[in-house]
Amino acid sequence: MRLSRRHPRYESLRVRAGLAEAARDGLVVPEGLIAQGRGEAFDYLLGERTSPSARRAERVAAVWLRRADRPVVSINGNVAALAAREVARLERALPSLGVEVNLFHRTPKRAVQVASTLRRGGVTRVLGVHPTARIPGLPSDRALVDRDGIFAADVCLVPLEDGDRTQALRALGKRVISVDLNPLSRTSRTADLPIVDEVTRALGHIVEDLHRVSAPPARRVFPPFDAAGALADALATIDRRLRKVAGPRWPRPSRGR
Ligand code: ATP
Ligand code: MG
Repeated sequence: MRLSRRHPRYESLRVRAGLAEAARDGLVVPEGLIAQGRGEAFDYLLGERTSPSARRAERVAAVWLRRADRPVVSINGNVAALAAREVARLERALPSLGVEVNLFHRTPKRAVQVASTLRRGGVTRVLGVHPTARIPGLPSDRALVDRDGIFAADVCLVPLEDGDRTQALRALGKRVISVDLNPLSRTSRTADLPIVDEVTRALGHIVEDLHRVSAPPARRVFPPFDAAGALADALATIDRRLRKVAGPRWPRPSRGR
């Protein structure tokens, strides 16, 4: 299908066409397309741009990643299809970063496909194609990880993650930075540092910030982050947007009850 650049939703249609193609190739699973639809809905509600609060979260994320001993980013099919180039830029900005394939719907073929997509985007070293460890407490293949990657990581960046895995990573004592447009998801609600933003925007901003953040001597000293405050900000952004769009018809909050 030819997409006209003049279409008012050209960018969204372009991304959808890319994901649909990736789904036909088997890189993205049908469930991944559903996840994208949910993400798009929240992006619409958030105004399809990075909020000042999400931008602050991205800056803190860059500091945490820079100060980590073993930072790792977890990559699924959607992230590879949407953001392989941004992941490569992240790896260049932070050479200590492990880039690890981690799939909810894992087959050996898909793991290789995700790794090839990352390499085509410019990622030099991909972990997790042949997993060597398991995350305790998680059923099935979702627990499979690399002993030198997620298993040993102190800071995990998990874009478009599932809530159970986020909880399992936290239970292992890892600091979890999530990227998820849904401020109500279990992932956003359990991460130490939830970034409520679209994945390509968020990774692009973190790369910019990494260039400005110095490395040691402050290694392993992580500035605190108010996760509940960040989620409340995201909900307030949605609330403000709905009020603006609905105008005076939007019901006023009731008082005195
Ligand atoms: P959870 O398991 O955390 O409760 P969920 O089951 O609702 O979440 P999953 O499919 O497990 O959803 O996770 C995918 C998440 O990724 C969704 O919450 C969706 O909003 C988010 N998402 C999808 N596409 C994007 C994107 N391009 N950028 C950022 N977030 C996205
Ligand atoms: Mg889920």
